[in-house]
Amino acid sequence: MRRLVILGGGYGGLRIIEHILTPDLPADVSVTLVDRMPFHGLKTEYYALAAGTEPESKVRVPFPSDPRLQIKHGEVIDINLTERLIHFENEEKLEYDWLILGLGCEDRYHNIPGADLYTHSIQTLGSTRRAYAAINNINPYGSVTVVGGGLSGVEIAAELRESRPDLTIRLLDRGPSILSPFPKKLQDYASEWFIKNDVELINMANVTCVEDGVVYNNNQPIESNVIVWTAGIQANRIVRNLPIEHDNSGRAILNPYHQIPDYTNVYVVGDSASLPYAPSAQLAEMQGEQIAMVLKSEMKGEGYPSVMPAIKLKGTLGSLGKKEGFGVMGKMSLVGQMPRVMKSGVLWMYKNHLG
Ligand SMILES: Cc1cc2nc3c(=O)[nH]c(=O)nc-3n(C[C@H](O)[C@H](O)[C@H](O)COP(=O)(O)OP(=O)(O)OC[C@H]3O[C@@H](n4cnc5c(N)ncnc54)[C@H](O)[C@@H]3O)c2cc1C
Repeated sequence: MRRLVILGGGYGGLRIIEHILTPDLPADVSVTLVDRMPFHGLKTEYYALAAGTEPESKVRVPFPSDPRLQIKHGEVIDINLTERLIHFENEEKLEYDWLILGLGCEDRYHNIPGADLYTHSIQTLGSTRRAYAAINNINPYGSVTVVGGGLSGVEIAAELRESRPDLTIRLLDRGPSILSPFPKKLQDYASEWFIKNDVELINMANVTCVEDGVVYNNNQPIESNVIVWTAGIQANRIVRNLPIEHDNSGRAILNPYHQIPDYTNVYVVGDSASLPYAPSAQLAEMQGEQIAMVLKSEMKGEGYPSVMPAIKLKGTLGSLGKKEGFGVMGKMSLVGQMPRVMKSGVLWMYKNHLG
C-alpha cells in the first residue's frame, strides 16, 4: 500500500480528506488522519467558548467516517523528513509516503517577558477551556485585558461584554485603530461598538512585560484578573523545527504545488504554510482543495498542472457579540446585523456539510 498521512484534522486537513476520499482514489492508497483531538475543533468559534456564550459541544464536529480512512490519535513531537517518519510523544512512530502538515499555528509572544506565562490563549481547544474557566471564575466586577485588536481579539472582547456585563474589559492594540487590516469603515464601526458598550480601547499600546495579573503598557501597569493574548501567531513548532526554509513567522516556504521544495512528497496546508494571504480557515480550505487535486494527479501517475489556479478568497466576516458584526466581501464593507447573520449562516452550512 502507498501511505498518505495527514497531520491535523483542522480546516485544511479535513478539506483535503473530503477531496481525496472520492470514488477515483486508487485502491492501493491508505489514508490516515492524525490529531491530538478526537474530533474537529471549530477554531473560528473558540472566542465564544472562552467567553462562556457557547458550550463546547457547539465547537466540535465529528471526524469523517469512511472505510478507507484510518484515524490515529496522538501528540506529534517531531518529523524526520529524510526517514519519512513521524514521532509521537508516547514514542510511537508512523511511516508515510506522502505527508500533509496541517497542524495550524501557535501564539507569538514577540519575546515579551512573561507573555507566555501569564496570559491565556485561544489557539487550541485545551487552552480555550482554561481561558473559559479563568474568565468565568472572575468574581463580579473584576477585569479582563485582551492584548491584540485583530479579528480574534475583537471577537472575544465583544462576546465577553455580552457574557459578563459586570466586568471591566480592556482591549489593547498596537496600532492607531483595532482591526488594522480591515477598511476604515469597519474599524470605526467596531471602535464605536466598543465605546457604546463600555469596553475600554487602548490604541498605540506597547506591551513591554506581563506579570501575574499585570500587563505593562509602555511600562505602566494595568491590573487584570485575566489577560488574554491575541497579539500574533506563528507556525506550529513542529513546522518551525523542520530543517527547511521558513518565512519570518516560521511558516514553511513552499513551491507552487504547496510542497516543501526539497521534499516534494510533503505538503503544508493552512496556518503553517507561507502564502501571500493572511492566514484563515477559508484560505486553509481553498489551499487544501488544490493540494488534494495535485496529490490525486500524482497518485494516478498523471502530471501536475503547468500553472496552479489562483486562490480566490470570498471575504471575511467577524462578530461583535451575537447581534452585530462586520465583513468584507470583495470591495464591499458590511456592518450591522446582516454580516452577523451571514456569519452564523456560514457556520451552520459548514457544520451541516461536515456532519
Ligand atoms: C478566535 C479565532 C477566530 C477566528 N475567526 C476566523 C474567521 O472568522 N474566519 C477565518 O477564516 N479564520 C478565522 N480564524 C483563523 C482560523 O481558525 C485558522 O486560520 C484555521 O483554523 C487554520 O486552519 P488549519 O487547518 O491550518 O489549522 P487548525 O484548524 O488550527 O487545525 C490544526 C489541527 O492540528 C492539530 N494539532 C496541532 N498540533 C498537533 C500535534 N502536535 N499533534 C497532534 N495534533 C496536532 C489540532 O488539534 C488541530 O485539529 C480564527 C482564529 C481564532 C483563534
